[in-house]
Amino acid sequence: MKIFTTTREVQDYLADLRNNGKTTGFVATMGALHRGHLSLIAQAKQHNNVVICSIFVNPTQFNDPSDLEKYPRPIEKDTQMLIDAGCDILFNPPVNEMYAAHEHWHLQLGEIEHLLEGKFRPGHYQGVTQVVYKLFNIIKPDAAYFGQKDYQQFMVISKLVVLMHLPVKLVMCPILREDDGLAMSSRNIHLTAEDRQHSLVLSKTLFRIRDEFDANNIPALLDEAAAFINAETGVSLEYFEFADSETLQPANQNTKNIVALVAARVGKTRLIDNILIN
Ligand code: AMP
Repeated sequence: MKIFTTTREVQDYLADLRNNGKTTGFVATMGALHRGHLSLIAQAKQHNNVVICSIFVNPTQFNDPSDLEKYPRPIEKDTQMLIDAGCDILFNPPVNEMYAAHEHWHLQLGEIEHLLEGKFRPGHYQGVTQVVYKLFNIIKPDAAYFGQKDYQQFMVISKLVVLMHLPVKLVMCPILREDDGLAMSSRNIHLTAEDRQHSLVLSKTLFRIRDEFDANNIPALLDEAAAFINAETGVSLEYFEFADSETLQPANQNTKNIVALVAARVGKTRLIDNILIN
């Protein structure tokens, strides 16, 4: 696997590959890799000649400085995992390679920016679009692979691609879960043994509510989900919502494609999860 830390080097290398007719698939990550990330690499490998993974803990998408500081950065282990997964290129730039001092960024993302995650993490999607725009510009991938795990992020990045006319195909990959249902996440490392048990209420609630969806109305299901999660020790619910799967506007019973999304603090760790309902 080739490893690059500077924009110029990775750009030159990729330009050569493109000139030789190679197609490129890109997976953007913040590292602390797990099997969820590796499933994106596997999909990218299936459909492209060359797979590029970035590891960059993007400061502009963190609204909580302590969250940024304690974000896990096991770069040696990550590098080995990428080699084992058959990734071709790792792009792992330092912060000053990606950002000039006092850079400004604002994209008119519309309402989707302020819903759900946006309400609890103000500015988050500005930071996400800022870094993904830069990464797309540097890597110029034919296709980019993102997880359903960050459902709203996928919709926001789709909007970025439309607004900026970016020639990249976006692919959403399914959520990988632990055997007991917990969605894999780099943040799961922070869960204590007790948190880990309590965290199961999130996926359990999503599955239960999906199974009950046809037989119940949305307000009743929302009440049930909130009651179920709030009853779990150590879990503090931020939101549980049904939304239109494209716009992420709140869904009503007649909405066709619905996604249920949840965010909660489990102990000190903030977790998100979601499920497609119909
Ligand atoms: P992150 O490193 O958390 O920024 O995630 C990088 C990419 O991996 C994003 O597209 C995530 O949606 C995706 N991802 C994270 N967790 C999972 C998972 N459990 N299953 C599938 N994809 C995931």
